[in-house]
Amino acid sequence: MEENPQHPVSVCWLRRDLRLYDHRPLYRALSGKNPVVLLFIFDTDILDPLEQKKDSRVHFIHDTLKEINEKLVACNTSLIVKHGKPDQIWKVLLNELPVHEVFAGKDVEPYAKRRDKKIEKLLGEKEIPFHLINDHVIFPDVYKDNGEPYLVFTPYKKRWLERSRAQDVETYDIDPLLKNLCSFAPRPMPDLTQMGFEATSVPFPGKTIPKEIIKNYDQTRNFPALRGTTRLGVHLRFGTVSIRECIKLAQNLNQTWLSELIWREFFITLLDHFPHTIEQAFKEKYNNISWRNNRTEFDTWCQGQTGYPMVDAGMRQLNTTGFMHNRTRMIVASFLTKHLLIDWRWGENYFAQKLLDYEQASNVGNWQWAAGTGVDAAPYFRIFNPFTQAKKFDPQQAYISQWVPEIGSEKYPSPMVNHSAARIRALETYKEAIS
Ligand SMILES: Cc1cc2nc3c(=O)[nH]c(=O)nc-3n(C[C@H](O)[C@H](O)[C@H](O)COP(=O)(O)OP(=O)(O)OC[C@H]3O[C@@H](n4cnc5c(N)ncnc54)[C@H](O)[C@@H]3O)c2cc1C
Repeated sequence: MEENPQHPVSVCWLRRDLRLYDHRPLYRALSGKNPVVLLFIFDTDILDPLEQKKDSRVHFIHDTLKEINEKLVACNTSLIVKHGKPDQIWKVLLNELPVHEVFAGKDVEPYAKRRDKKIEKLLGEKEIPFHLINDHVIFPDVYKDNGEPYLVFTPYKKRWLERSRAQDVETYDIDPLLKNLCSFAPRPMPDLTQMGFEATSVPFPGKTIPKEIIKNYDQTRNFPALRGTTRLGVHLRFGTVSIRECIKLAQNLNQTWLSELIWREFFITLLDHFPHTIEQAFKEKYNNISWRNNRTEFDTWCQGQTGYPMVDAGMRQLNTTGFMHNRTRMIVASFLTKHLLIDWRWGENYFAQKLLDYEQASNVGNWQWAAGTGVDAAPYFRIFNPFTQAKKFDPQQAYISQWVPEIGSEKYPSPMVNHSAARIRALETYKEAIS
């Protein structure tokens, strides 16, 4: 087998589409005339700023790449895995490989767009086409009649559903095309420690789509003590499961689950068009809120020691497992921004460090929703009462007892703020900001 291919090749650059089935960019690459090489870059521009070197996402990606590579080795090829800055890696790679075309999935996060612009320029200097192909969402372009993006979910969803009725979701069968992979000897992959990271003990949810959970989703999704949601977030984030497969199942099995997948597409479309919302309130006047930003109170929230059992259960679930149930995500976000008047960006940032399924578009969109500063957001005066929420969604206290076992004992702190007083303070502060 060749050490390095000498003939023209196409490169399929994997990023957030880490699978070898139903994969649009790979399908396009394999359908062309050149043999295909698969590449992944551990990007130091993303990895270096990560504070925690036991990062579950890096571990998850590494495990997934090993799995992909095993399959590729069985097809007489190998994944090329590099570690460094993408533009520098590409400069070297273009000297090693006779690259004729590059295919990759489109990514709308602001950093990804900047990175891809740089690489497009670099490839352009050698007249190598760079094809960015939508793979991460079904419809990246659901717009109003006047071509503007929707700012309200319900009409967006209505238009999305109209599109899906008019146009079947396609699948892209890779298996018959695998013969078009470029054969060459297996390549070594950097291990986690070489890149300065360590393995974690966070459990990774399985890749099998749980059909029974989806069937009952509308009945079970709001109760954090139940295994009532799919835990597919991390797989949708890194493309280890195909969104097209999920949407087709949702269309047949459960409209409520379909709706959640459409929220995901809504937030991704919004981030594409309003990248400034990663740092600023979508509604400009909400930039004037006088956040209290008390560091000690923030730490108390992070550690799950607020004295509000539902909030503490959520934060401890997050800290221990890298996952938090959606109902509790809403409760802890409301508590941070309203009860404690701490800037939603602090909370967004903490979730970004901890969540295995961290997705910038969904995290920013949902944090702004909870803080009342975003598009189609919960109105600022709707402030969750964490005690009422617990009664409604954890009536047997099963979730709370699991994460806050010392509840009812002297060890458990009393509430760090009084609910009614904190509510009034939040209402006054928000009102002042937007008047
Ligand atoms: C403050 C806050 C922060 C959040 N941060 C993230 C995040 O970083 N990444 C993330 O994927 N989701 C985020 N969500 C949305 C939601 O909580 C998670 O998608 C969900 O809890 C993941 O669990 P699951 O995989 O079992 O999803 P399921 O309930 O089974 O839903 C299936 C999939 O639909 C998508 N989805 C579901 N709800 C939403 C939603 N409200 N917005 C966007 N997509 C949704 C996700 O991809 C999810 O995996 C956040 C919600 C809140 C309130």
